[in-house]
This record gives sequence, C-alpha cells and structure tokens, in this order.
Amino acid sequence: MHKSALPQEGTETFQDQIRIVLVETSHSGNIGAVARAMKNMGLGNLWLVRPASFPDEASYARAAGAADVLDHARVVSSLEEALADCVLVMGTSARGRKVPWPVCAPPEAAVAAADHAGSGPVALVFGRENSGLTNDELQRCHYHIHIPSNPDYSSLNLAMAVQVMCYELRMHYLRSLEDGQASPYLKPMARPGDEGWDVPPARVDEVEGFFGHLEQVLIDVDFHRRENPRQLMTRLRRLFQRARLDQMEINILRGILTAVQKAAGARGNSKSTEAGSTVAGQDNGDV
Ligand code: SAH
Repeated sequence: MHKSALPQEGTETFQDQIRIVLVETSHSGNIGAVARAMKNMGLGNLWLVRPASFPDEASYARAAGAADVLDHARVVSSLEEALADCVLVMGTSARGRKVPWPVCAPPEAAVAAADHAGSGPVALVFGRENSGLTNDELQRCHYHIHIPSNPDYSSLNLAMAVQVMCYELRMHYLRSLEDGQASPYLKPMARPGDEGWDVPPARVDEVEGFFGHLEQVLIDVDFHRRENPRQLMTRLRRLFQRARLDQMEINILRGILTAVQKAAGARGNSKSTEAGSTVAGQDNGDV
C-alpha cells in the first residue's frame, strides 16, 4: 500500500487511511496547494490521476513546506486504480447532477470517513478545475459531498475545497483524541472562574461594591441623576456582568473611580463621598 508522507502525530489509522484523490488536475500549482492544505491538517496520502503536469516547479513552489507530501504522491493512469482497494469513496461536487445521489455535508463526510478508516483506505475524490468530475466518475462514489457554498457562485478553487474537507477531517480527529476527551485546541475560550485563568473571579459583594462606587462617581460628576436614572445603571450592570470581572479588574476599576473622584474634588466640583477616599485594592464596597 502507498505509504503516507506523514503522519505528524503518530501513525493514526484515521489519518493514514484517508486518501485525497485529484482527477486530471490541469494546474500543477493547485497540486502543490493541495499538498500544503493536507499537511497543515495532518494528512499526507495524495493520489493523482493523470495530472497534466507533475512533478514540476510550480507544484513544489506552491507546496511550500509540504514537499514531502508531493514526494510521496502516487501518480496513476485511471481513477479505477486509485480507488480499487478503498472501502469508502466520496466524490466532491459543486453542483447537483441529473440523477440525485446521497449527498452529505463536510462534517457528516468526516464522520463517515472516520467510521470506515479502520477497515481500509477511504478516498475523497476531487475533480478538474474547469469541469469537475464526470457523471461516470461520480457514479463510482458511495456518497457525494457538497460544500454548502453560495448557490450563485458555488465552485471553490480545487485546493480550497480540499482545505475545507481536510479541516473537517481534522476537527473530527481532534474531537476523538484522548478517549473521547476534546483536544486542548477545541476547548472553549477560558474566562474568569475557569481553570487556567490567572486571577480569581470577583465575588458578588466585590462586584456590588464596584457598582455602588460607579454610581456614586457618576453622580459626583453630574452624569447620573438618581431622580432621572434612565436605566443607566441597569445597562452598565449588564455591560460589566457580561465581562465576568475578576478580582484584579475590580481593583483596577475601583482605583480609576477613586482617581476620578479625587480629580473632580481637586477641581472643586466634587460632591465628595466616603468612597472618594478609598484606595484601589482595599475598597470594601461601602459606598
Ligand atoms: N467548474 C466545476 C467545478 C470545478 S472546481 C464544476 O462546475 O463542476 C474543482 C473541484 O473542486 C470540483 O471538482 C470539486 O472536487 C471541488 N469543489 C469545488 N467547489 C465545491 C463545492 N462547493 N463542494 C464540493 N466540492 C467542490
């Protein structure tokens, strides 16, 4: 069997068994761009059916650091040859055909590929730049994959279509790592209160102390009138609550408020409050 040019992350069956098949590619630069797209996503098993020109300078130039994928690419003279030992074949197409075939979206195709990769090679077939895959070629596929692009302009550049599919395969692979535990790459964004955040989240009384201080400063500087509140504090509360403030952020904000009160007082128009004398980091929220 053709040996994968990679894998970069161990000899994972899934990555090793995924075969990207390009049919009669006319621009060899696209072959290089495909190699790069594949290697970025941890794949390396590339088959070329009757390429117009390969190997050549343009393909290696566009491959950048993925020359190894091109070195190991297998050139064959028929699609039949590229698919003979495969257990699953999925053909990609930008448009529907006369006789409808089962069509899946890229994420679904990645699941199907992973499900079958344990039993043998899985081929993803890509067509010619100007005319795609023929009906006969598409009929050799178990499923068709359509990337849900703009219906008025549905055809992606060949290498971009390969990139989309390889990305979906990689996302599926990463999700399946570590006995079903998500890869660190897929973890949701860390926020205050989450593991790994550098400062403990602010407590409710600290946040309430900040809101009280903020309201007092807004009154001091004549921005806010208690008799005509206009939901100002409600909206400011919503703004700061969305941020899920941590303790250091509270201290910084209270320090700023104290500085504003001092400056306003120095200009002689402060209505002076107890909160005005508090120091950032020591504020007890008693405003
Ligand atoms: N003009 C051709 C499209 C060629 S694009 C046509 O009308 O069929 C080159 C190849 O990129 C296609 O054969 C297919 O393999 C892939 N491709 C481009 N856009 C795609 C899409 N929206 N969905 C799936 N594959 C696509």
